[in-house]
Amino acid sequence: MSTLDKNHIDFEDTQVAFAYRSNSELRKAFYMFKMLSFPTLVNLGKRLLIPAIELGIPLQGLVKITVFNQFCGGETVEDSNQVIDRIKGYGVKAILDYSVEGNESEVEFDRATDKLLKTIRMAETQLAIPFSVFKVTALCRHELLEKKSRNVSLSYEEEQEWSRVKQRVLRICEAGAKNEFPIMIDAEESWIQGGIDELCEEMMARFNKEKSLIYNTVQMYRHDRLEYLKDLYARARKEGYYLGIKVVRGAYMEKERERAEEMGYPSPIQVDKKASDRDYDNAIRFIIDNIHYINLVAGTHNEASSQLLVDLMKERDIAPNDHRIYFSQLYGMSDNLSFNLAHAGYNVVKYLPFGPIKEVLPYLIRRAEENTSVKGQTGRELGLIERELKRRKKEKPLLKEMP
Ligand SMILES: Cc1cc2nc3c(=O)[nH]c(=O)nc-3n(C[C@H](O)[C@H](O)[C@H](O)COP(=O)(O)OP(=O)(O)OC[C@H]3O[C@@H](n4cnc5c(N)ncnc54)[C@H](O)[C@@H]3O)c2cc1C
Repeated sequence: MSTLDKNHIDFEDTQVAFAYRSNSELRKAFYMFKMLSFPTLVNLGKRLLIPAIELGIPLQGLVKITVFNQFCGGETVEDSNQVIDRIKGYGVKAILDYSVEGNESEVEFDRATDKLLKTIRMAETQLAIPFSVFKVTALCRHELLEKKSRNVSLSYEEEQEWSRVKQRVLRICEAGAKNEFPIMIDAEESWIQGGIDELCEEMMARFNKEKSLIYNTVQMYRHDRLEYLKDLYARARKEGYYLGIKVVRGAYMEKERERAEEMGYPSPIQVDKKASDRDYDNAIRFIIDNIHYINLVAGTHNEASSQLLVDLMKERDIAPNDHRIYFSQLYGMSDNLSFNLAHAGYNVVKYLPFGPIKEVLPYLIRRAEENTSVKGQTGRELGLIERELKRRKKEKPLLKEMP
């Protein structure tokens, strides 16, 4: 048997992938993904759903039994705990992701900070929750972040506002670091990422002196990020702190390209998917080469990149459960990767978004769009679920169906 065969994880094993789901849940997931395979329907939902709910049309029930139940843990931390308990039985951990977006006022930013602090305090007590995560836009005005990212000088009031943002980020990172509980910061649009990187680097320099507790995110669909990662590493080594890095391909490609075209600047996005794949895999290689100083979260639904990481870990004799490396997928997607990797002993953590239905709608719309636009993703989910349903039927044809 070649090394590759020995390392190979069977991502097609649907029995392992869906063991945590009942027949009726799987059937519901099947119909939900089928629905998402119609771009016109997703587009219509995207345009009408938020205004309709704002007008008081009672569509929340429908959203709840379809996309919300598929992609979210629940409306509250308590609801989400049921999902966490369930997947933990199969070796898969969770990151509670308070997915409320579009905050604009100081009151909302402070409320989001308190909510995050509460989630961190709760998460720290549970082994099944190895990280907390947040988006800087939950704590800061978009325009302010954009100004900060463009390096334009801020007015006195804006400087005051920015120092309040820093205070919020500091409180969150400090709360985690105090108890050695890692905190990840999501990456967002390129025109606000400069400000996010600045905050994140400051927190890493402050709290990662002895180990990686604060994580930044790099989006490899940007053609400048491999260089950024290498430069950040060089600076961190020089200044004597560790890095925590979540590597993703990036979620805002269409928006990035449209804005660049509209405003007439060169797109920050790679020329094609192959280039994003190449840089993603090179970022993983770079981190594994420097694993003594960088902790890694590989946030991807891509099978080849996940297999590559498995191969590199074997090649370097890194144990599957080495605490420095996590595979990560979003709840409701790519269970074939998450559960098969966990079954083989690797560290796996699912992003588990939660929040009131109305407020997590932007997140849900992004997931729906992603499952429509990512070539083959919906087809893949559908195919795997269908195969598992058939397998179960064949296995127990005479028994009464599981609930
Ligand atoms: C745990 C986790 C955390 C995440 N956190 C973040 C985050 O903080 N910030 C963020 O932006 N995203 C985040 N994402 C989303 C992620 O960036 C991707 O959108 C999503 O995971 C799909 O990419 P993939 O690697 O899973 O798989 P694939 O299906 O192999 O790749 C699809 C991705 O490739 C890129 N791509 C597709 N077509 C092209 C093209 N023509 N040219 C160039 N590139 C192309 C796009 O980024 C697209 O999303 C996260 C995802 C996960 C699983």
